[in-house]
Amino acid sequence: MKIALRNKLYKLIKILTRVPFWQGLLAGALVLLLLIYPYSGATQENPSKKTLQVATRVIPPFVFQDKDKLSGFSIDLWRSVANEMGASFKFTVYPTVPDILNQVEQNKVDLGIAAISITAERQKKFDFSFPMFAAGLQILVRSSEEKTNIFPNLLQTFFSPTLLQMLGIAGALILIAAHIIWLFERHHQEAMISKSYFPGIFKASWWAAATLATQADEMPKGPLGRMIAIIWMFIGVIFVAYFTATVTTAMTVQQLQGDIRGIEDLPGRVVVTTAGSTASEFLRQQRIKAVEVGSIENAYETLLKNQADALVFDSPVLLYYAANEGKGKVEIVGSVFQEENYGIVLPSNSPYRRQINSALLTLKENGIYKTLYEKWFDVKKS
Ligand code: GLU
Repeated sequence: MKIALRNKLYKLIKILTRVPFWQGLLAGALVLLLLIYPYSGATQENPSKKTLQVATRVIPPFVFQDKDKLSGFSIDLWRSVANEMGASFKFTVYPTVPDILNQVEQNKVDLGIAAISITAERQKKFDFSFPMFAAGLQILVRSSEEKTNIFPNLLQTFFSPTLLQMLGIAGALILIAAHIIWLFERHHQEAMISKSYFPGIFKASWWAAATLATQADEMPKGPLGRMIAIIWMFIGVIFVAYFTATVTTAMTVQQLQGDIRGIEDLPGRVVVTTAGSTASEFLRQQRIKAVEVGSIENAYETLLKNQADALVFDSPVLLYYAANEGKGKVEIVGSVFQEENYGIVLPSNSPYRRQINSALLTLKENGIYKTLYEKWFDVKKS
């Protein structure tokens, strides 16, 4: 027994000396690593196995929300991208773009998709996918039918400083002419004006005013009075011409100023946009003061309630509103003045960027992107 045991031990020692001990240790360690590693390695090499957390925000027609149901161009596009990647995901809706960016920056979500513009400033902190939509900024105003309410304009003209000044001058001229005519006419036998200052001067003023504007019912009888009347009538003609020219000019200028046709017409106007958007940043750079509201719906409301003269925002969003809910109430003016591209925003060095980009390219190549574009942007209508 003892001899057999010793033989077995002897054989084992012989095997151990043939396979060096350290080699065995290495093999063991490798097996152990292979057993443990696949789980941590999966997110690096095959990120699509995880449920991706996707941040978005309501911004028609890119993102609509009906109770818990999300739809829209960006939502459909992401679903197709995820499908290409074979990834599962979960959407979470945040109120604003800055909120989405915050979540991405803190790695609380894996990516953000809505109508998020790719900018140099954002690129410093985030990764972006390839552009997924070409957009830009444009101006929205209330419809011209709404604006061409002539009465407020007319009232404004009548109480304008120029007109009040002219009426003052006319009053002074009438008083002077009335005194002159009273002085020369009062002694005439069939005078139209009584001798005494009161009520003589009243009648004389009435005559001077009527002659200035149109034609008086009575004329002076004395030769001097008539000569003065002729001079006064000529003054009247000049005054009426001057008056007409001034009022017409004032109204034309007002009409021209009333029309916003481009960004050059925005300074001095009340402009509304959404807080933290690229539009608000653009207006700040142009030194155009803007009222900043939370959601785009609030911005539309501000414009429609006459609390703002113009709304500056992303062109496709405005176009969609003008063609649907805002039809007849608002209109787009001028062309796109700041071109921007939308992208999917990711944390810096995100492991998903490559896959997302490949998926986006595939969708563009296989026509799915085009189908989605045509679904949400009725090309013929816009
Ligand atoms: N495209 C703009 C941005 O990225 C506005 C988007 C929005 O307010 O939803 O800032």
